[in-house]
Amino acid sequence: MKGFHFTLSQRRRLKELGADSYVNLTFKNEKERDSVFDNLARSLEQKHKEALLNLLKITKRPLIRRLESKLIGALTSAGFVEVNTPFIIPREFIERMEIRETHKLWKQIFWLGDGRCLRPMLAPNLYHVMRLLRKFTKPVSIFEIGPCFRKESKGREHLEEFTMLNVVELAPDNEPFERLMEIINIVTKSAELSHYRLKNVKSEVYGKTTDVIIGENEIASAAVGPHPLDKKWGIFEAWAGVGFGVERLAMIKMDTKRIRHVARSLTYLDGASLDVQ
Ligand code: ATP
Ligand code: MG
Repeated sequence: MKGFHFTLSQRRRLKELGADSYVNLTFKNEKERDSVFDNLARSLEQKHKEALLNLLKITKRPLIRRLESKLIGALTSAGFVEVNTPFIIPREFIERMEIRETHKLWKQIFWLGDGRCLRPMLAPNLYHVMRLLRKFTKPVSIFEIGPCFRKESKGREHLEEFTMLNVVELAPDNEPFERLMEIINIVTKSAELSHYRLKNVKSEVYGKTTDVIIGENEIASAAVGPHPLDKKWGIFEAWAGVGFGVERLAMIKMDTKRIRHVARSLTYLDGASLDVQ
């Protein structure tokens, strides 16, 4: 294309500051380009600085953590109980999910070398806890929110450590899919993200899932049981379950195109670059 483009380092800086839509601008000459870059970078840096000051002086907690608290509040108010399970899980849990060496997900697991791994999902732990709680009460309505780990060839929507919110109800009083929709609505309503759509998708683990989509992003995958996996976990009732990516929710709320801006990070805090003067 004719004209002058931003240099590689200018582009990198604009992307760091979240100005992806500007990186392909063209200019008459270098002087014009550099002057546009300087103005743009200065005003973006100012925005990031203001966002950091807002966190330091007013909000005190990043949006993603506040969102987590809100989701926990909405779910406990709706009768769900929070569980708190290990990040490190046995290989047997992966195998019992029928995730095999041929599966994409198998290759994404961080193995610890002693027959254990960092959990790539919450489902195995929730299956386990659900079986132990089902003798006390039914329905069993539980959720966990916390880190999961997957090797990812890095992209704008993928992190190697991300936060999953998994909500499940065993033996619901109404029809499982109907209950699933209610659960999705509790979460999306409390996140103030009610404009989602649903899409049926094939899944390596569950056979098929119903994905929850906002814009172009999958924010959650959901499924209902009974499912052939269940008997391996000592589960025999119907269930409804959904796993949300909390950073994906935060991305939409903060209107950022890059997930690492809202992720656990040493270079970003609450969507703002820490590398501004
Ligand atoms: P994707 O197709 O986007 O890679 P997935 O279908 O493999 O995701 P699931 O196993 O369905 O992911 O996990 C449930 C939710 O967790 C996803 O809908 C997504 O919001 C979130 N999630 C999964 N993997 C990641 C990741 N690497 N980084 C951030 N969020 C993730
Ligand atoms: Mg999915």
